[in-house]
Amino acid sequence: EDIARTTYGFVGADLAALAREAAMDSLRRILPGINLRDGIPSNVLESLQVTRQDFMNAMKRVQPSALREIMIQVPNVTWDDIGGVEEARTRLREGVELPLKSPESFRRLGIRPAKGFLLFGPPGTGKTLLAKAVAREAQANFVATKSSDLLSKWYGESEQQVSRLFARARQVAPTVIFIDEIDSLAPVRGGGLGEPAVTERVVNTILAEMDGLEELQGVVVMAATNRPNLIDPALLRPGRFDELIYVPVPDAQGRRHILGIHTKTMPLGPDVDLDAIAERTSRFTGADLEDLTRRAGLLALRESLQAEHVTMAHFEQALRETRPSVTPEMEREYEDMLRTLKQEG
Ligand code: ADP
Repeated sequence: EDIARTTYGFVGADLAALAREAAMDSLRRILPGINLRDGIPSNVLESLQVTRQDFMNAMKRVQPSALREIMIQVPNVTWDDIGGVEEARTRLREGVELPLKSPESFRRLGIRPAKGFLLFGPPGTGKTLLAKAVAREAQANFVATKSSDLLSKWYGESEQQVSRLFARARQVAPTVIFIDEIDSLAPVRGGGLGEPAVTERVVNTILAEMDGLEELQGVVVMAATNRPNLIDPALLRPGRFDELIYVPVPDAQGRRHILGIHTKTMPLGPDVDLDAIAERTSRFTGADLEDLTRRAGLLALRESLQAEHVTMAHFEQALRETRPSVTPEMEREYEDMLRTLKQEG
């Protein structure tokens, strides 16, 4: 019965596949290199026991037909791929990675980890990368969605989509759910008569699903936005997205680190001074810096397809062609928002 409750979205054929997979797993436990064509010795069949864990493991491999559109990823981003976001990284390691990895330690000390984390900051600063790295380092699955994708025009479809997402996340736990552009779920003013706006219904479903998540059940929800001031306040109440994590534009040291990451596989001429480039790229985001290194590389290629390395002159040219995507005003706005959100929270 317990397994039945977790098989939301599984049709008959999926359930048959699930049972078969679970049985195969239990067989492999006893006879690691088993080949079914050789038949199964009867003494093995007698001692065979299919456990709950076999079913739970099989659930990660058998894709339920009704949840086909929900893609489970195992991200390949590591902490080494992300530069200059020290504070966010530390808080996410403690807040998400550790509880997912060692729930027992938290339980023993009676610590209740947060269920929801809101990453905010300018576009291209690494919010998506951070969510993926957390999932990977915690050996968790990753399911991502954009709020705009959740806002289907068919009545009721949007809420269903949210429920499917959470159901699949629970089935393959530990899981990190990542909801990008969560600001598009902001309440629309003057929405008007009759039924509640679709955004409100989606927010309510997310809240109900999050309330239903028990701590340490292995599902953590991370959301990202560039516009935290537009977020439905209902999402920010305690027990929901109550961990607010600012992902700022990197400082010079962070930029140096990011430049190093994005030139790791790029042969650089001896005159390339990444420290100097870091100093000169104030307000460049991680995405801007990646773009800069790519442009420098393309300039070298444009000069000669036989180019063996990228020189400082290429970087100089790329610097002339690239602008930071964050303006001083934007940066100030984010700092102000951070202050307001902290006071409110
Ligand atoms: P966001 O989700 O904040 O909009 P992303 O995480 O999607 O930004 O970043 C987009 C791309 O920019 C990444 O795939 C990566 O190549 C680069 N990038 C952004 N931030 C960083 C960072 N802190 N370190 C290294 N690369 C970064």
